[in-house]
This record gives sequence, structure tokens and C-alpha cells, in this order.
Amino acid sequence: MKVLLVNTSYPPFVIGGAELSVQELAEDLAADGHVVRVLCLAPRSRRDAHRDADASPEPGRVSVRRLWRRRLHPEGRHPARWARALWHVGELLRLREYAALRAEIRQGRPDVVHLNNIAGFGWLAWLAVRRVPTVQTVRDYSLVCTSSFGEHNHSVCSRRSLRCRILKAPFTLSWLRPRRVVGVSDYVWRRMRAAGVRGRDDTPTIVRNRPRPSGDAAESATPSHRADGLPVVGYLGRLDADKGVGILHEAVRLLRAGGIEVRLLVAGGPTSYGRALTDRYALEYAAGACVQLGYVDPGDLLARCDVLAVPTQWHEPFGRVAAEALQAGTPVVASHVGGLPELADLYGEGIRTVTGFSDPGAWATALASALADGPRPTTPVPPPPAPAAAYLAIYADVRRGVSSAAGSEVGSAQVNARQS
Ligand SMILES: [Zn+2]
Repeated sequence: MKVLLVNTSYPPFVIGGAELSVQELAEDLAADGHVVRVLCLAPRSRRDAHRDADASPEPGRVSVRRLWRRRLHPEGRHPARWARALWHVGELLRLREYAALRAEIRQGRPDVVHLNNIAGFGWLAWLAVRRVPTVQTVRDYSLVCTSSFGEHNHSVCSRRSLRCRILKAPFTLSWLRPRRVVGVSDYVWRRMRAAGVRGRDDTPTIVRNRPRPSGDAAESATPSHRADGLPVVGYLGRLDADKGVGILHEAVRLLRAGGIEVRLLVAGGPTSYGRALTDRYALEYAAGACVQLGYVDPGDLLARCDVLAVPTQWHEPFGRVAAEALQAGTPVVASHVGGLPELADLYGEGIRTVTGFSDPGAWATALASALADGPRPTTPVPPPPAPAAAYLAIYADVRRGVSSAAGSEVGSAQVNARQS
């Protein structure tokens, strides 16, 4: 099968987890013998650096075409308000990207076009692929909201925002719909549908990511990482307020005040928010109760902690970091928000969620209870099936123009049609 994958960006240029998930899917499909082409955007320097590798891929490898774009995504560098506004208005008329997508379809004649995050392509991407069997996977909120977080001032954009209603209106037009809309979680699929974003075939279709394991966390999952006997809580991600890392620090302070000694290992690149935390929690840092490691390999961090905390404060559509930890056998305590609670469907008891996830006290209680279970079990978790198999079945459906009676036919653990 010839598959054209479209995503805002593609590794090695990574904006968030979506790029990695798209890469894993692309490589799995190519390894399975399918002809996989990726169309994405890239800053000019990155595009030029990868031109040779992109142009002549080895057999079984993914071929990539990167279109140049000066600034990739409005969330990336916190640009000025006017620049963001201009970018979003520009989304209504991405003619160059439209032409590139049309040309890809004309020349490559893909059997299926699989759109993912299409910020930077705009609604014209839907127009360009109108006559080709198309799957749209939703990995963020940019189809319904000018914020890819799907929130304004920390409250969910419920489409009462006039700006979002106008700028994202094309994605609700029934004549423009792709054949199938797929969510990376039930939560995100339902939110799209509630906002009027749906496929011509409205079958609820959920395909959860399966992050590739990094490092050898599972092998080194022994209690020996507790060098001085302290239980270790890990954090992996951007050091930012919306990720909840500040709440985690406060929870550590509360635990220590209650006589429970823990060590919080924070992995993630330095930010001004992260530096502010070292000042605010100077006592905890001095005592070694909080440690910032900077960038580390996720596998290395997971091997060193008893539990990974995912205290995200926004409605994360999937929760890639949590899935990665669970796959490595590291228990997870996560905010009960977005798609995170659904990871229990895949990984069972390894994950527990915190309902009052903005309350440090609730986090302290949840972490204390998770750590009371003692060192983590060393039995590896059987990995859920890879998304490629589920997508192949979906591609077959959209090519035939049929709606499978239930998405649940496609890989029981990953795709399910839950009608509640
Ligand atoms: Zn909005």
C-alpha cells in the first residue's frame, strides 16, 4: 500500500510527542513492506541538513519531504500576540502547502492519505485530499482551537470562543470531511466530535500510541537504584507550570513535613520556570530531596525511579511519557485528565490517577500510597499491539469506503468503539 503521512513536523525536528508517534507508525509501516512517504514542514536549516537522507531513502525506509517554513508552530517560542494572531489567520490560506500536497498526490498516487497534526497546512489540507481515501488522526486540539492545548487561560476552549469558532470553522464543514477521524484517546475523539469535527464515516475509532521503549529501563528495574534507601519519584518533561512540576515540588515539601523522605528526580531541559523552582524550594534542593538532572535519556530516568509522576495540568490527549514508563514497567501516578486515565485500559494497575490533580496535598497522598507499595515489580509488562496493524485495517476500510461495524474489530486493546 502507498501511504502518504502528513504531519506538521517529523524527526529529528520534534515539537512534541506527535512527531515520535508518527515516526514510529511510518517506520513500522515501511518495515512491513508498505511504501511510506511523509510530507512535513521544517525550518530551512533543518531541511537542508536532511535533504540527502530524505531524498534517497534505503528500501524499507520512509521517504520524507520537508517544506520550508520560517516559524513552525505558534506554541514553540511564545511569540508576540500579534505574531500568533497573524499565524492563525494565515492558517486560512496556506496555498503553498496546499499546492505541495496536491503535487504529492498527483505524482505519488497514494492509496491513502493519513493526516496527523496539520498546523501549518491549515484547512486547505482537507480540501487537497478530498478525493483520496483519507484518515485524520487527532493528536492535539489544533483542529478546534487556536491553542494546541485546547485551553485559554487554563480553561477548556468550549468553542464559545468566537475566535476559535471562526478560524476553525472549515473543519466542521460536512462537505470537506475526511473519511475517518481517529483519536489517540477516547477523550480527544469525543471532544472533536462535540466540536463538530468528524469523518464522513462517524465510527468511533481510537488508536492509542505505543511508544518505543528507550534505554533498558526494564532490565535495570531493581531496588538497587535506591542508593541511600530513599524512594525515588521521577518527573520527565518540560519544566513548565502547565506540566505540574511545581505542584510536584510542593507535594515533596508536604511529604517531608509529614515525615516521609523521598527524592524527586526531575529530568528535562533547563527553563526559567525550572530555575525559579530551585530558588523557591532551596531547602529541598539543598537536602537532596529535589534534584534537577537536565536532559537525560528517558530510559535512564525510568530505571532510577520507583514511580513516575505525570502531574500534567492540561487535557493531554494521550500521555506519551506515562505510556513509555508503563511499558518499561515503572508505575505511574498521573493527573486524572485528558486521555491519561485511559492508559489503564492498556496497562492495567500500573497507573493510578489523581482526581484533584491541581492540589499538592492530593499528590502527596497519592505518591505516599504508591511508594508504600515498595520497590516496583520487575516483571515486564506485555506490550500492547503496535498502531500500524490497527491503521492498516482502517486504511483498508477507508479505501473500500465502508464503515466497519465497530472500530473494535481492529486490534482489541487499541481500537474500541465505546458508546457511552
Ligand atoms: Zn480555543
